[in-house]
Amino acid sequence: MYIAGIDLGGTNLKFGLFDDSMQLVHSQSVHSIRGDSVACARQIKRLLEEAPHPAQRIGVGVPGAVTRPSGRVNSGNLRWAGVQFGATLARETGLPVWLDNDAQCALAAETLEGGSCFGLSSAVYLTLGTGVGGALLIDGKPWRGHDNAAAELGHFVVHAGGLKCPCGQRGCFEMYASAGALGRLAGGTRARLVLDGARAGDRQMLRFLDRYCQELAYGICSLYMIFRPQAIVLGGGVSAGGEILIERTLRHIPSAYNYDANTLRGVLRLATKLNGAGMLGAAALARENLVSC
Ligand SMILES: [Zn+2]
Repeated sequence: MYIAGIDLGGTNLKFGLFDDSMQLVHSQSVHSIRGDSVACARQIKRLLEEAPHPAQRIGVGVPGAVTRPSGRVNSGNLRWAGVQFGATLARETGLPVWLDNDAQCALAAETLEGGSCFGLSSAVYLTLGTGVGGALLIDGKPWRGHDNAAAELGHFVVHAGGLKCPCGQRGCFEMYASAGALGRLAGGTRARLVLDGARAGDRQMLRFLDRYCQELAYGICSLYMIFRPQAIVLGGGVSAGGEILIERTLRHIPSAYNYDANTLRGVLRLATKLNGAGMLGAAALARENLVSC
């Protein structure tokens, strides 16, 4: 059986075809079609037709909330409000579709062999990118809430009355822990340049990274207090900073009554399935879940 795994981002659509052992046998990347969900479904249909083997199922990860049982998707990046994309794609392709939040897909990839959460029963996954996304693993299963939209970990408040967030609240974690926040805390320097400079030992860039890691530590401490997970995994673009990101964040973990930085050493870790994790996780979820849409 072949399964298509699709990482449908706001900019690019990454299409992968996986075999029975979840090995990637074919991939393609195209620009995403935003706004028009029917055109997007037809684009995926074309990619399926161009693939070397026919897929029997499709898994799709999207940057937004996918609520169940309605299957409605709200995604600012894709300009979708309440779009039932799973049903549209199933109709256009005639195949069963599993549609999910992209962080849920990334977590699913990390629980596979070689992933940062393989064999664990509890984990908190954070995507530190354009926004901050999240997914939770509790008792060995993804925790999805009553309507599948749980784990919006970018939107708990770390600074009461702080910066206004697009979600409507003030002081959300996302406003201080996204790639854009890193750039802002670095006085407008692009996040990638800060990360590259810090890795190369540039003192100014290390100071900028420290400011960011302080903010990251606030959120991580709260998440650790709430979930007490075996792992807190950092994924997304900022995690390209590598081990220095972990080390600098640990420096800002205060000693609390029942944990300190040493407790979090080993808990706080980097995602290991960075390239293609979205495609792989979407395909893995489609393999596990038979329910359409
Ligand atoms: Zn928010």
